[in-house]
Amino acid sequence: MRVFSGDSLLIATHNAGKLEEIAALLDGRGIRVQSMAEFDLPEPAETETTFAGNARIKAHAAAKATGLVTLADDSGLCVAALGDQPGVYTADWAETPNGRDFAMAMARVHQELEQSGAAPPWTAAFVCTLVLAWPDGHDEVFEGRVSGQIVWPGRGDQGHGYDPIFQPDGYTLTFGEMDRWEKNKMSHRGRAFEKLLACFT
Ligand code: IMP
Repeated sequence: MRVFSGDSLLIATHNAGKLEEIAALLDGRGIRVQSMAEFDLPEPAETETTFAGNARIKAHAAAKATGLVTLADDSGLCVAALGDQPGVYTADWAETPNGRDFAMAMARVHQELEQSGAAPPWTAAFVCTLVLAWPDGHDEVFEGRVSGQIVWPGRGDQGHGYDPIFQPDGYTLTFGEMDRWEKNKMSHRGRAFEKLLACFT
């Protein structure tokens, strides 16, 4: 595994909620987090059908364009009774002509579950793949996953995205009811980060 020994890292996401979580996970490690807002780069199309494939596209495009070691994440919600959908299309389910609408996306998950006839508990998992890419084309890939269930109606207004409808196994709170520190301890992104940190000196 290639070791990362730099003191700054570009985070290749345009998602403010993710950037904030990633910055919190790197806090106190002496690494300056640079955001895509500092660069005027187009968002590459996520054309792959796996989380790792799409994270690779994002990480390599930004590393190549900036010459900086770059971290990208691709993540999503996989609902068992929906054949692991929305999966890599998790963000797409929230797309509207006026931006992302997660209330609509969460309602769609619930509606499709009702239509599937599957009885609760509706098992699901959040998955996160992190790719650390160097400008020379090398990369390291780390995956984290947390299992849980979809609850309806959603609960809590902390966090972002689909947090209110996901209750991790072993907890009575949804991600939307947890504070950031509590969520990061055991979330898919937190778990992927634990693996990534083994790569840092
Ligand atoms: P990506 O930016 O293509 O990786 O899209 C990931 C999608 O999954 C976005 O719509 C996010 O809101 C959603 N997502 C990923 N991680 C989380 C999470 O921790 N909580 C809630 N939604 C998430």
